[in-house]
Amino acid sequence: MKPNTRRSPREVIESVDQPELEEAWYKFPRQEMVACSINRERDSVRWKVHQKGRKYMHIHTHPGGSRLSIYPSSRDLDSFLLDKMRSMVIAKTSPKTGKLESYFVVRKKKFVPQSSSLLPRQYEELLMNRMYEGIDDSSFAESLDVLFRKYDLQWRYVPVAEGKNAFDSRAQYQTDLADKLKTEYRMAA
Ligand SMILES: [Zn+2]
Repeated sequence: MKPNTRRSPREVIESVDQPELEEAWYKFPRQEMVACSINRERDSVRWKVHQKGRKYMHIHTHPGGSRLSIYPSSRDLDSFLLDKMRSMVIAKTSPKTGKLESYFVVRKKKFVPQSSSLLPRQYEELLMNRMYEGIDDSSFAESLDVLFRKYDLQWRYVPVAEGKNAFDSRAQYQTDLADKLKTEYRMAA
């Protein structure tokens, strides 16, 4: 396949049917994203678990309007830990236009203890604090850093500017993670 015939993640995400419903994809390096949803709803999506046994990237949209919809839910995080996916990307989109607004990326740096992990519960607490206790961006980011580091996870929030490559402005994110995303998955919009 010629690289220039492959649609970028942003093109795939923004051309989804019924953008008010969540949609999910998996992606292998140097391949176009492949839709894998079984059931699409406004605030959830069920997807086919990928059986090939290779590490891959999972992407799904959050078109919802809640303050928390830029983040993975604790159930998303649970699925992430249990599955062979290497990275999970939450693509925050507009429910009306389907336009991409931001990416939130979580990546396993090393092997992560899985079924016994307390992480989803601790993460849920963090989200609830964020929602109800009025915690500001930087202290939330700090708590997320501390929590995810314990489980060898990296995370990055990347707002997507109009007409700009989401992973091009190096100042906004951790360089090594960003390089991985660019080289492994060509996530540049
Ligand atoms: Zn989700």
